Amino acid sequence: MFRRKNRGWQVMEGQPLTELDKKILHYQNKGHLVPDRSLIKTPEQIEGIRKSGVINTGVLDLVEKEIRPGMSTEDIDKLVYDYTVSHGAIPAPLNFEGFPKSVCTSVNEVVCHGIPNKNEILKEGDIINVDVSTILNGYYSDASRMFMIGEVSPEKQKLVEVTKECLQIGMEAAKPFGFVGDIGYAIQQHAEKNNFSVVRDLCGHGVGLEFHEKPDIPHFGKKGTGMLLVPGMVFTIEPMINMGTWRVFIDDDDDWTVITEDELPSAQWEHTFLMTETGLEILTY
Ligand code: MN
Repeated sequence: MFRRKNRGWQVMEGQPLTELDKKILHYQNKGHLVPDRSLIKTPEQIEGIRKSGVINTGVLDLVEKEIRPGMSTEDIDKLVYDYTVSHGAIPAPLNFEGFPKSVCTSVNEVVCHGIPNKNEILKEGDIINVDVSTILNGYYSDASRMFMIGEVSPEKQKLVEVTKECLQIGMEAAKPFGFVGDIGYAIQQHAEKNNFSVVRDLCGHGVGLEFHEKPDIPHFGKKGTGMLLVPGMVFTIEPMINMGTWRVFIDDDDDWTVITEDELPSAQWEHTFLMTETGLEILTY
């Protein structure tokens, strides 16, 4: 993987250094990766992302109300498309790098990027991740939930629960002027304590003005590493936790669907967060 050159923190020319400048330059001079100014959202941009998040949450609430055995994943896609468009927004996945549908639906051993299909019928015992991303007035939001279809095995229930805890624990580990690696460290500890594994190949990401911005947010790693977290940054945390091996592959047939190598189940929960002066705030609640 290539890492794009990071320009680091730019001070405003001809103006005295602010307290924020001094604080960020302190970390940069110690060799830490710091965000560039474009990753710190303005209050106006944050409001735009927040409004996008309200629609994104509305979509997930609708799916939560309607999802049931016998429904196809394409039926979910239609719910998502119709709700989003009728609220003046655009489903971000649709036509994104050639993705053919409005939402990702990932059932059982599918980790993420599952493509809705009229022949894929939800049945009792399935677990499914529905990953919804919305563009409103140019602002992006991104969140996903797990749904359990009818009666689900205790093993799958535990996977879904622990993955939800991983998102919560990752959120609590993210502090202003902490580091991206603090998030992954906390998530990995909790997943592995429960004998589950963390997918390595896919990460959370900056979001807001584009679908995927810097930085990557891995769900494993070491405390005190990775980019400095600064108030005004907006990013997702979206742990993908596997019952068996962390290794995954991409389905040759569609070049999208990510599947666990051992075909054991995988779960994922996701929110879009704003870093504030005190910690993370959920923008997709
Ligand atoms: Mn995402």
